[in-house]
Amino acid sequence: MAESRDAHDDAPSTRQIHHGYVPPAGFAAVAPAMHRASTVLFKDVAAMRASSWLDKDTYTYGLHGTPTSFTLEARLATLEGGTHAMLVPSGLAAIALVDQSLLSSGDTVLIPSNAYFPNRSLATHELARWGIVHRFYDPMDVESLRAALGEDVRLVWIEPPGSVTLEFPDLRALVRAVRAHAPRAVVALDNTWGSGIAFDAFDLEPGATPALGVDLTIHALTKYPSGGADVMMGSVVTRSQALHDQLALSHCRLGLGVGPNDVELVLRGLQTVALRYAAQDASTRRIARWALGRKEFARVLHPATPGSPGHEHWAAQCRAAAGLVSLEFDPAYAPERVERFVDDLRLFGIGWSWAGPMSLAVPYRAATDRVSSTVYKGTVVRLSIGLEDVGDLIRDLEAALEKLGA
Ligand SMILES: *Cc1c(COP(=O)(O)O)cnc(C)c1O
Repeated sequence: MAESRDAHDDAPSTRQIHHGYVPPAGFAAVAPAMHRASTVLFKDVAAMRASSWLDKDTYTYGLHGTPTSFTLEARLATLEGGTHAMLVPSGLAAIALVDQSLLSSGDTVLIPSNAYFPNRSLATHELARWGIVHRFYDPMDVESLRAALGEDVRLVWIEPPGSVTLEFPDLRALVRAVRAHAPRAVVALDNTWGSGIAFDAFDLEPGATPALGVDLTIHALTKYPSGGADVMMGSVVTRSQALHDQLALSHCRLGLGVGPNDVELVLRGLQTVALRYAAQDASTRRIARWALGRKEFARVLHPATPGSPGHEHWAAQCRAAAGLVSLEFDPAYAPERVERFVDDLRLFGIGWSWAGPMSLAVPYRAATDRVSSTVYKGTVVRLSIGLEDVGDLIRDLEAALEKLGA
C-alpha cells in the first residue's frame, strides 16, 4: 500500500484508519506486545500473491499467527524440549487436530484404556464414523500394547499418568515397543500432567543416541501454563519439521486459530509455571502423606507415593509430580456417602479441570469407568491441589471426614 500523497485531503474518519503508526522500537518492556489482527497488510499485490496461508512462518492472516502467538509457540517449544509448536483453542482440540491430521480411513489408532475420557470418546464416536479404527491398550502392561500393534497402526497415544486414577506407565518400554513393532506409527504423548517440567518427553533416556522420545506432545495449556483457571488453549509440539508441516497444513485448513487476549494470558502464566508447579507438587505430596495415615482410604493414587500403581516407573523417569492426588475410599463407603464428603468440603471447589489457584474435588466411580489391569473397588475422589495454605486444606479434608463418620 502506497503512502497517500494527499492524506490531508482525506476525511477525519479515513485519517483515523490511515494514521501513521510507528512500532515502539526502543520500548523495552518485559512483557511482549500483544498484537491483534484479522487483516495483515501486504506491501503490494505481488507480495500478497507470493504469500501462502499454509506458511505458518510468515504473517498472512490473523487466523494463522501474529508476533504474539509466534512468541508463545517458541516459548512452549522450549518448555517441552521440542523445536516447533502450534496453538489450538483447547487441549482437546490439540488431540483432535493430531487425530485428524495423521489418520485416514482404514488406519488404526491405539489409546490407553485409562486415557482422558474425551480422547477415548473422540475415537469411539467421531473417528469411527470416518472409518478410523481404534484399539485400547492397558498402558501398565507393555505386552498389551505389543499385542495391539500392527501394520495398520498409524498413531499411538500415551498419557502419563492415566487420567483420574494416575497409574504411571513405563514410558521408555512403551516407546521402544512401538519403534520395534510399528516403525511407521507416530507416538503422541499427552504432556498436560508433566508440563515439560516433570520429565522430558523428547528425551526419555538422557544421553541415549539416537534420542529415545515421543514424536509429538499435546498440552492442555488450560492447566499449568495458564494457571489461572480462566483460559482455554492447547498446543502441539514436535521436533520434526516434516511432522510439524503436516500438522500445520491441517491446522490451517481447519481454521484452528486462537485469540490474542488468551495468548497474552498464557504468556503471562508461563513466566511462573515452574514455581506454581513446584508449590502445587509440594502441597500435594503433603496431602498424599497425610492420606496414607487415614483409615478411610484403601489406596492413595499419586505417582510419587510408594504403593501407587507405577510408582517405580515414575521414580525412574520423573523429577516432579504435579498437583493431582486421587483418594480411593474403602469400598465400605457407598458412593453416595463419598459424594456427600465432597459436598462437605469447604475449600475444595466442585468443578472440572485442574492446575488452577483453587483446589478442586471430583468423585469418580472408577470401578465401572476403567478398563485396566488395576482394579478399583472403592469410589475415587480426585483432588487438584491449588495454591491455598496446605494446612488449611488438610484441616478441611479432616473436617469432612469427621462428618463422614465411621
Ligand atoms: C484437561 C485435559 C485435556 C483437555 O484440555 P482442555 O483445554 O480442557 O480441552 C487433555 N488432556 C488432559 C490429560 C487433560 O487433563
